[in-house]
Amino acid sequence: MTHDAIVLGAGAAGLLCAATAGQRGRRVLLIDHAPEVGRKILISGGGRCNFTNLGTTPDRYLSQNGHFAKSALSRYTPHDFLALVERHGIAWHEKTLGQLFCDGSARQIVAMLLDECARGGVEVACDAAIGDVDHADGQFRVSYGDRAATAPALVIATGGPSIPKMGATGFAYELARKFGLKIVQPRPALVPLTLAGDDLLFRELSGVSADVVARSGKTAFREAALFTHRGLSGPAILQVSSYWQHGQPIGIHFMPDRAAGWLIAAKAASPRATMRRLLRDGLPERLADVLCDRLGIDGELGALTDRKLADAQARLADWQFTPNGSEGYAKAEVTAGGIATTDLSSKTMAARRVPGLYAIGEAVDVTGWLGGYNFQWAWASGWAAAQDL
Ligand SMILES: Cc1cc2nc3c(=O)[nH]c(=O)nc-3n(C[C@H](O)[C@H](O)[C@H](O)COP(=O)(O)OP(=O)(O)OC[C@H]3O[C@@H](n4cnc5c(N)ncnc54)[C@H](O)[C@@H]3O)c2cc1C
Repeated sequence: MTHDAIVLGAGAAGLLCAATAGQRGRRVLLIDHAPEVGRKILISGGGRCNFTNLGTTPDRYLSQNGHFAKSALSRYTPHDFLALVERHGIAWHEKTLGQLFCDGSARQIVAMLLDECARGGVEVACDAAIGDVDHADGQFRVSYGDRAATAPALVIATGGPSIPKMGATGFAYELARKFGLKIVQPRPALVPLTLAGDDLLFRELSGVSADVVARSGKTAFREAALFTHRGLSGPAILQVSSYWQHGQPIGIHFMPDRAAGWLIAAKAASPRATMRRLLRDGLPERLADVLCDRLGIDGELGALTDRKLADAQARLADWQFTPNGSEGYAKAEVTAGGIATTDLSSKTMAARRVPGLYAIGEAVDVTGWLGGYNFQWAWASGWAAAQDL
């Protein structure tokens, strides 16, 4: 036996797990095939890493088992991670909606995690392709690069396949399947959606954004939506993309601050006003013009029937787009689905039927909203597993 635990994947979850277990006295080996650790941390939050969200609650996560994340999230909270950030003297700020970012650079978070690993005596092996992973006589044997190591515990922390050019792979699923764990069909999430057919005309709005409420089924988010040359993006769309299923429409409320009946009230107050001018009052001009053209009702409000105005208002409050797909793993911030929680302990992240095997972070079927929730899950699940190693 060369180590007490081998952690595969030196991303957010693997780094925190390895550091915590190391500081609990475990001899930990942390292996990654990338030349440097924490590459997604480095590119996250526009280079400033949105490292947690103060509003973290289990209902901000998608999973086939909505209760699974509760235990880990309650035992390692945003305040625990923030305390670590502060101990390392990293300046931070709250941007919006509880989202915490570094004032400086995401590099500080990676340096902090590496420092914590060093304090725990963690052996870090980068640039090491993982070869065979075997399990016999209570020991896991991992070959990596031209070396091999054994340990009674193995932690799968290799994330999901989003952004393959950053070194992301579906390796976690391969390994999980090999050990008999089930996989919930993975799919790109927090991803721009693409438009086709009639909706393609909205491409002429590429670069225009507006504060909207975007909805998929019963789930709605109020944030910015951005028209792109391929379809729809921006925070509101990324959020609903995680809930969107192929073939379903996305509904967009373009005037979320207007009271019910506002168009008919506007007609009574200023019958000479035009629809185009009213829309331009609340929306970017190019968007207002396209919506007005598509509604097909221009001219003075006083000349329009209440019925027409009510129909226009209803359409503006729930404009239907039917995306023909998403921009896929190349552009997805996370992967939804993954290693089924039914096969894991929610307290320790240990596989129920394979003693010594654990899965943490994005590899598991727990996917957060946009805004620091995914890192908080990575930290919390990594910490939970480390308590059991
Ligand atoms: C552009 C972008 C911005 C993001 N911004 C934010 C943000 O601001 N806030 C937030 O909360 N979340 C953000 N996320 C999501 C967040 O980065 C992930 O949810 C989080 O990194 C998951 O942590 P993890 O440790 O499970 O996986 P990862 O961080 O992906 O780490 C997995 C590690 O495993 C390694 N690996 C993969 N396959 C193999 C293999 N076959 N062999 C060896 N090693 C392997 C990888 O190199 C990687 O180091 C962002 C994601 C992207 C893509």
